[in-house]
Amino acid sequence: MANSSSSPSGRDLTQGIALEDIAEDGMVAGHVGGDAVLLARKGGKCFAVAAACTHYGGPLADGLVVGDTIRCPWHHAAFCLRDGAVTRPPALDNLKCWRVEQIDGRVFVREAMPAAQPPTPHIAQAPESVVIVGGGAAGNAAAQTLRLEGYEGPITVWSADTALPYDRPNLSKDYLAGTASPAWLPLRLPAFYAEHHIDIQCDQRVTGLDPQRKEMTLSDGRRERYGALLIATGATPVRLGVPGANLPHVAVLRTLADCNALIARLGNARQCVVVGAGFIGLEAAAALRVRGIEVHVVMRGAHPMERVLGEALGQMLRTLHESHGVSFHVAEVTGIEPHRVRLSTGVDLAADVVLTGIGVQPEVALPQAAGLALDRGVVVNEYLQTSAPDIYAAGDIARWPDPRTGEPIRVEHWVVAERQGVVAARNILGQRRRFAAVPFFWTQHYDVAVNYVGHAEGWDRVDIDGDPAAHACTATYWRNNRRLAVATVGRDLESLRAELAFEEETPVARV
Ligand code: NAP
Repeated sequence: MANSSSSPSGRDLTQGIALEDIAEDGMVAGHVGGDAVLLARKGGKCFAVAAACTHYGGPLADGLVVGDTIRCPWHHAAFCLRDGAVTRPPALDNLKCWRVEQIDGRVFVREAMPAAQPPTPHIAQAPESVVIVGGGAAGNAAAQTLRLEGYEGPITVWSADTALPYDRPNLSKDYLAGTASPAWLPLRLPAFYAEHHIDIQCDQRVTGLDPQRKEMTLSDGRRERYGALLIATGATPVRLGVPGANLPHVAVLRTLADCNALIARLGNARQCVVVGAGFIGLEAAAALRVRGIEVHVVMRGAHPMERVLGEALGQMLRTLHESHGVSFHVAEVTGIEPHRVRLSTGVDLAADVVLTGIGVQPEVALPQAAGLALDRGVVVNEYLQTSAPDIYAAGDIARWPDPRTGEPIRVEHWVVAERQGVVAARNILGQRRRFAAVPFFWTQHYDVAVNYVGHAEGWDRVDIDGDPAAHACTATYWRNNRRLAVATVGRDLESLRAELAFEEETPVARV
């Protein structure tokens, strides 16, 4: 699933390097034979690991050493420097490592080390079975974590999706643009699930849940028992409620099937109208421009993504997209016809395809019918437990207490969902881990990425450092003099440092 790679360059690390040439917490990029390798120094010791993140190939030399881990500058995955093991999603695979030897003040990188050993099993309780409802980021991460932690009982994943778990963030980016190979999309190949005895049932809906009997019902009437249950059902796109919104050329983009259907429609399309200037609308606009399609974005306010990023970064994104030929229209859509979209301003836009990205609704029908506590999502505690024993929730549906503000929050981001899947799985095994990760997302538009750490649903001040127009800036979001979130453009290391600073305010976040 990598879309970049680190080709060997720099010093030959087998030839040795003076220890004093490597700063404490510093790194030197080089190579060992044909492998790009990173030599990192921590506490006087040195570690050699592969130089590229196993997620998208981010350059770890531009990342941050924290404790005995290295964090990727692109999407904040983390790995243990000692054995290369993934310590934080979105990476799923460990880094390769090399043995390091110090002789007379020089550091030599020797042979590759064996793959990292799984952690010592730490199972305080082993449910008779674990059932996961949902085959997205959280569900997949949970299933994998259960096995990594040594759970040997049955694991079943019931997924409404027709495909095995895939890299959803790519759908609105490279995959839609046609620049990502379909082979990049699966998070794991079928052999992985078979080898780990993870029974994934795709295209299956769980329609009923009885927490007292620990039983669930499938759409075909079958009943299944569970020992512990994780609900990670994600979210469903909101549909436009205007005449013509159900016409066949009006698309949403949530699943791989949605994306493939959209791509098929784009075959002869010349013009696309995108409704909504949020994540889907803007990322898709960039992808469609790569395909050479004329794009018109219809939005409610003057600045795209303003509710999330504020005015300055919203304006930056608008100017960026306009420089790539995207037209923006501040209006409501009042109707859709086979070849045009009508706007409240009286403008009619020609459209071969209409893509709506106007938000999602958390998929809570199942927990709602089962009587679990809801509050604009499924209420969970800091251990991601719902109001029912042995039922956990993670991902887009879960509203958990933010350890930094004490407020319950729900976040619809991929990396958060994966990290919650990991924590929920550990708690299913009785480890009692608090979910305290600092929320993170990235959004990509052409060659510009915005990295965001923290969580700010509202703010009374935004400080901008640097120049948004030059795509080199940091936006800090404050409320009542409390720093809530930091967004960076072209300053990946600063994003990692901001994440660490948030963690240091709440030490449990580092766990
Ligand atoms: P979104 O990010 O919530 O954005 C929806 C946008 O549509 C908002 O700007 C909203 O404006 C606007 N809107 C709502 N109703 C509208 C209408 N009738 N006409 C025009 N605009 C309207 O949701 P999304 O873009 O649909 O994305 C869906 C989900 O995918 C989200 O959970 C998102 O987090 C996730 N996603 C994330 C990424 C990423 O992290 N990079 C990428 C793709 C998707 P207001 O703000 O004024 O309501």
